[in-house]
Amino acid sequence: MKIEGYAASEAKGVLTPFEYTAEPGKDEVVVRVTHCGICHSDVHLADGDWGEFFPLVPGHEVVGEVEQGAGFAPGTRVGVGWQCGSCGTCEWCEAGKEVVCAEHQGTCMGHHGGFASHVIAQSRFVFPMPPELDSASAAPLLCAGATVYTPLKLYARPGTRVAVIGIGGLGHLAVQFAGKMDCEVTAVSTRTDKEAEAKSYGAAHFLVGEPGSRSFDLVLNTSTANMNMEIWLEALRPEGVFAQLGAAPQPVEVAAFPLIMGYRSVTGSGVAHPAVLQEMLEFAARNGVKAQVQVMPMDQCNEAMAVTRSGSARYRVVLER
Ligand SMILES: [Zn+2]
Ligand SMILES: [Zn+2]
Repeated sequence: MKIEGYAASEAKGVLTPFEYTAEPGKDEVVVRVTHCGICHSDVHLADGDWGEFFPLVPGHEVVGEVEQGAGFAPGTRVGVGWQCGSCGTCEWCEAGKEVVCAEHQGTCMGHHGGFASHVIAQSRFVFPMPPELDSASAAPLLCAGATVYTPLKLYARPGTRVAVIGIGGLGHLAVQFAGKMDCEVTAVSTRTDKEAEAKSYGAAHFLVGEPGSRSFDLVLNTSTANMNMEIWLEALRPEGVFAQLGAAPQPVEVAAFPLIMGYRSVTGSGVAHPAVLQEMLEFAARNGVKAQVQVMPMDQCNEAMAVTRSGSARYRVVLER
């Protein structure tokens, strides 16, 4: 089949109309794209920050309708996130932990993504969208939502003191999910003008500047800025977890003593295993979690990428076609 999309042919190049042909394998689903969110990862890929994947059709926060494929009735409204394939047979895939499969296939990394008429994904990575979720405001859940939900599922319980650093595409969703899990949420930002909005998303507290010691059980760092890890480890309560979610280019440097003496952990998390992603969508539907989005037509994808690149998106740009 012919698929029409937008592709960059070189690092930092403009996206231009691009056509390719592909046939779905027997375990694959063809999704006709109606919406696609723009993630900072799309910008990194388009800018060549993570290597050469050109021609690059970006897009991995896809909502659309099944056109054909394994296990889905045509017309079913579905989502596709960062991952579109894995080996299906290794110990990790068998355990339902496909994200860490050595043959993890990204939707728009060495595979053509969602800035297109269609996207093809293995059926395990195609998720029925709960009817309560509106397609535009739910598209960012497929990557940003999955990324913040995973560490909350692992480490947060009602009453957990959660700090969310950075109130942007990931952070504004993290605050909502944590709030709906009855955590005590502190939104951390460098910008005082985000306080009212952060509180409207469910933050109990708003912090500009340095945290106090022993303040949080869980820190979700959605920022890519250089953090003062001495202060942030000290800000963890004993047994606390610092989860790095933002794709920071520089190393996260930690000293041994705050880890040893406080039984603290530093971990990372990105996207979500398939069952967790589906659970996240259902949680969002039940609890009214949704992204605040700016919708733009897909043929304005260059302008839309510029909004995301500049950091001025409030809080996610979603392409519609
Ligand atoms: Zn992403
Ligand atoms: Zn595998």
